Amino acid sequence: MADHLACTLLIAGEALTGTGRESQDVIDPATGEIIGSVPHATAADLDRALEAAERGFRTWRGTSADQRTAILLKAAGLIRERSAQIGEALTREQGKPIKEAIGETLYSATLLEFYAQEIKRIYGRTLVRPAGQRAEVQYHPVGPVAGFAAWNFPSLNVMRKIGGALAAGCSTIIKPSEETPTAGIALVQALIDAGVPGDTVQCVFGVPDVVSRHLLASPIIRKVTFTGSTAVGKHLAKLAAEDLKIATMELGGHAPVLIFADADLDAALDTMSANAFRNAGQVCVSPTRFLIEEPVFERFRDGFVARAKAIKVGSGFDADSAMGPMASARGLERMEQMIGDAREHGAQVLAGGERIGNRGFFHQPTVLSEVPESAEIMNEEPFGPVALLNPMKGEDAMIEEANRLPYGLAAYAWTKDPARRRRLAAEVEAGMLAIDTGSVSAADAPFGGIKWSGYGSEDGREGVMACMVTKTVHEG
Ligand code: NAD
Repeated sequence: MADHLACTLLIAGEALTGTGRESQDVIDPATGEIIGSVPHATAADLDRALEAAERGFRTWRGTSADQRTAILLKAAGLIRERSAQIGEALTREQGKPIKEAIGETLYSATLLEFYAQEIKRIYGRTLVRPAGQRAEVQYHPVGPVAGFAAWNFPSLNVMRKIGGALAAGCSTIIKPSEETPTAGIALVQALIDAGVPGDTVQCVFGVPDVVSRHLLASPIIRKVTFTGSTAVGKHLAKLAAEDLKIATMELGGHAPVLIFADADLDAALDTMSANAFRNAGQVCVSPTRFLIEEPVFERFRDGFVARAKAIKVGSGFDADSAMGPMASARGLERMEQMIGDAREHGAQVLAGGERIGNRGFFHQPTVLSEVPESAEIMNEEPFGPVALLNPMKGEDAMIEEANRLPYGLAAYAWTKDPARRRRLAAEVEAGMLAIDTGSVSAADAPFGGIKWSGYGSEDGREGVMACMVTKTVHEG
């Protein structure tokens, strides 16, 4: 295992180190130790990246669809080949179990492969006009895209920002999280190695607000795409609005899980307990508010608590760890504060509830029940390993509670009743609804939220079209 993670900026095809630049420590969340240093781009670096992005856009948009498909497929192959090393670095900087880190990286390659194939399916259309006239709807890449990715999925979040943009024919400047820089650098490097021009795909780091203000102030950038909190998303959406740049915002959630009395409880328990604690709960679609129909409440609660207590927490490099540390001291402090607040409001702690040890940022898988609406955790995304279990009286009350919050990212339901499934599909306010499954993500399916969870989609055909604009050509 490398001692120190190697982190560089990738600007105009050149790897730039920290020499002569400010830099920031990278921390191993399993130990709290410094494992690397990430250079901050200077204002001159960012200006150089912007100029390169403009050139890179002109070059890339001029490549044929076949050429672009071939290059992106080659990059996906390189990511697959390098997935073990990328996964190892990812676990060191983010903490998740190595199997998940490699799996996430392979999934990034799958997503890139989907995008690469989707290029061939960007069709325009011809409109009906009298003989001799013609009207055609064409799709064109929007222009250079600035992407800002969060630390919870250091590979996947980055690919979601750059894959669709590159498929559409845009150039892109990505800022992965400074807390988890290496996976993003490795993905951009794989794209360059496969033949994407270094002006077309670039990677920068810095103080997030400084970098985003600088890039979004430039008329060169025509689109911004962000994954992170609702507060920062609203701030970036306002910056984008000043220049009428288009935006994709993938923000926070607070996913409800509706467990009906007719559900296959064992399947619901196995799937939802694994999901709730995956990546230490630091997932925007993490199942959070469990709304359980009264007749099955006790059975579900007891089964869930038993499963939570059985989860093995440890270093992501231990083969038997099912859950690693939280990614940062900040996240851990937030968990402690929210659980303390829930306790004060009368919630029962049925499993966990405490930090583990004082080295690294480990927290116990935690189950709270009878959590009152007045507790902060019932209203704000905990983004940690905690599930909230409350008994509910019937479908109407469950749907009302599911829709109570301003968030609308993922929602889950477990029921065998076909008519109820249709009602849930119509009435639950969410960008993604999973019924009798824990999966809300697939390369060919749009991923994104509504209300305060943001707008615009990543993945699927929509992930490419979100980086394109129409031009209607009328010929008389
Ligand atoms: P945050 O929104 O402050 O940061 C998220 C990411 O955005 C980080 O990687 C950060 O580098 C970047 N960022 C922050 N400010 C920015 C700015 N002005 N311009 C550009 N990029 C910026 O969130 P956080 O403190 O890391 O976590 C707090 C909460 O955010 C979490 O508890 C969770 O609710 C939410 N969150 C959601 C997701 C998601 O997948 N939607 C991911 C991370 C965090």
